[in-house]
Amino acid sequence: MVNYKDLGLVNTREMFKKAIDGGYAIPAFNFNNMEQMQAIIQAAAETKSPVILQVSKGARSYANQTLLRYMAEGAVEYAKELGWENPQIVLHLDHGDSFETCKSCIDMGFSSVMIDGSHLPYEENIALTKKVVEYAHQFDVTVEGELGVLAGVEDEVSADHHTYTNPDEVVDFATRTGCDSLAISIGTSHGAYKFTPEQCTVDPVTGRMVPPPLAFDVLEGVVEKLPGFPIVLHGSSSVPQEEVETINKYGGALKAAIGIPEEWLREAAKSAVCKINIDSDSRLAMTAAIRQTFVEKPAEFDPRKYLGPARENMKKLYKHKIINVLGSDGKA
Ligand SMILES: [Zn+2]
Repeated sequence: MVNYKDLGLVNTREMFKKAIDGGYAIPAFNFNNMEQMQAIIQAAAETKSPVILQVSKGARSYANQTLLRYMAEGAVEYAKELGWENPQIVLHLDHGDSFETCKSCIDMGFSSVMIDGSHLPYEENIALTKKVVEYAHQFDVTVEGELGVLAGVEDEVSADHHTYTNPDEVVDFATRTGCDSLAISIGTSHGAYKFTPEQCTVDPVTGRMVPPPLAFDVLEGVVEKLPGFPIVLHGSSSVPQEEVETINKYGGALKAAIGIPEEWLREAAKSAVCKINIDSDSRLAMTAAIRQTFVEKPAEFDPRKYLGPARENMKKLYKHKIINVLGSDGKA
């Protein structure tokens, strides 16, 4: 049993409160490897932004849960070395699928967990979330629950279509489970293929594909019922078209990948939405830089020569999100 506080990590409670009061959101970036972790920490340290390091089920099976947790411990020390005196770093389990998974993460030093019972019948979701909360709170670990179902595919989490969160259920759910934050479904979705071109309209000025609007009325309904309660948006990558173009220019074959416009997320960040999950965008940034290097320097075979540019490109993306989309810079 290791407590996250001994590792220099923090839970989400204070961070979320400040974010709601201050009208910004905390970035939750997924990580699977060292370069991604370095890019996240460099971006957060340089902008003095609180940050949530997320570990998905896919990451745990790819990189190993124990190794990822030691990387997070290393990240705190690394952040200090970079001149960030009081790093505000959360180690969070993304889409925990059982009590046992959540318990195992809490026991090894995670400071926050998500229990995703959104696919279960309502009462079962409540029972499972409550069980995780009761365990987690003994160690001051914060818990994210989910109501409503997101469409899309991300690692092992997938659904064909979304079911919006019902604002009439949120008070009952939050009260009976005791969860610290709530992920809701308002039309964001997992993965890089959030919308088909047929679902989108073309912006006459920019020529950009604009997806159908998010259900901001659902968000407003939730905030009205649960004023000041921390709300989380999953599936919030914007799928930067310049990265998609770079990937395709250098031999990739991504078709019509369309994400959530950043200005919509900026609006959401000003409300009680205090955690925004971004994963696909960094995958795109990494892949774009690697593809470009492979084509431009075909004789290169030192992994540092292509993982280095990949790290730089991810860092640029993370800083952009922190400063221009979430507004969390200077808050830690
Ligand atoms: Zn998610």
